[in-house]
Amino acid sequence: MIPFNKPFLTGSETKYIEEAVQSGKLSGNGVFTQKCQKFFEEKYGMKKCLLTTSCTDALEMCAMLIDAGPGDEIIIPSYTFVSTALAFVRQGAKIIFADSESGNPNLDASKLEALITPKTKAIVVVHYAGIACDMDAVMALAKEHNLVVIEDAAQAIDSFHNGKALGSIGHLAAFSFHETKNIIAGEGGLLAINDEKYIDRSEVIWEKGTNRASFFRGEVNKYGWVDTGSSFLPSEVIAAFLYAQLENLDAIQAKRKSIWNRYREGLNMLEAQGKIKLPVVPEFATNNAHMFFIVCGSLEERSGLIKYLKERDLHAVFHYISLHKSEFYAKGNAVPELPNSDFFTDHLLRLPFYYELAEADQDRIITAINEFYANA
Ligand SMILES: *Cc1c(COP(=O)(O)O)cnc(C)c1O
Repeated sequence: MIPFNKPFLTGSETKYIEEAVQSGKLSGNGVFTQKCQKFFEEKYGMKKCLLTTSCTDALEMCAMLIDAGPGDEIIIPSYTFVSTALAFVRQGAKIIFADSESGNPNLDASKLEALITPKTKAIVVVHYAGIACDMDAVMALAKEHNLVVIEDAAQAIDSFHNGKALGSIGHLAAFSFHETKNIIAGEGGLLAINDEKYIDRSEVIWEKGTNRASFFRGEVNKYGWVDTGSSFLPSEVIAAFLYAQLENLDAIQAKRKSIWNRYREGLNMLEAQGKIKLPVVPEFATNNAHMFFIVCGSLEERSGLIKYLKERDLHAVFHYISLHKSEFYAKGNAVPELPNSDFFTDHLLRLPFYYELAEADQDRIITAINEFYANA
């Protein structure tokens, strides 16, 4: 069976974990945590980064930092993972779902203004497949209406918008190191803070509502409970694993890009024949090879293709079910019409994608897809 995903190990993970264990400091915010945070701050230009136990946690920190609560509206794409919405729902805020573009799962920035009301507090963008949303349009709109922009950059490590790293553009951003992402730690995440006004409070929320971080820097002489918060820090064991991955980022990215390009070349003909659509990378965006997806002609066709591939031991999977149609949301809310989000729910198919995917195996997948459409 060629799986959909297979976590890649660089080989230094256990060595660094051993170092962390030998150092005798295993709780969070130690040497490896700081190395990982510095890596992002220096390479991508974020003002401050804090490691978290997941991207979900980093998004929850964002919701706490902007004081999202009852009476606030948060605009979120419907075609995304549950966590993007859940972080704000937990705070009592109301979610307003935005539709995708017609040819791209990312939210359609040109339709955002119609969703803004006096209650709108923030826009959360998701860079689907690591390909940037139209951030110039989003940031301009946010500035005009005095809104916070939060980037769900879970899939967007090492990807750029007009030369600026994704996760460094919005006021706040969240990354994921779940084992299905480009850079992994099993479970893990990172909060990036680009608007300085959030920095001090983010450290407090990160450390269970205490001013522990400034106490250890000698800025205050007592350490105590000063705000809301939770235990958002991962242990040094996680950070050590993650650092081994970050050190190998360039090699991992180069390999993933070659896999991505091989899919593109192998499936180009089907797109030229109008049978499927392939990912679009806008001029302002780069491709970080997080994912390779195809857009099928219909739901039945996609189901047929999944089955055809499965019979050949090839595991391709669809992705999000529009959140506005979810059981949880539909229970308490009027369900809006978001045709493009529903379109990607029914038509998008993700192909096996992982560092160790052998060329011969990849060619089997490409051949099978071409055969399926030749016989269709
Ligand atoms: C993976 C993912 C998340 C959740 O990340 P975790 O680290 O598992 O919490 C959130 N949003 C998007 C868009 C994702 O792809």
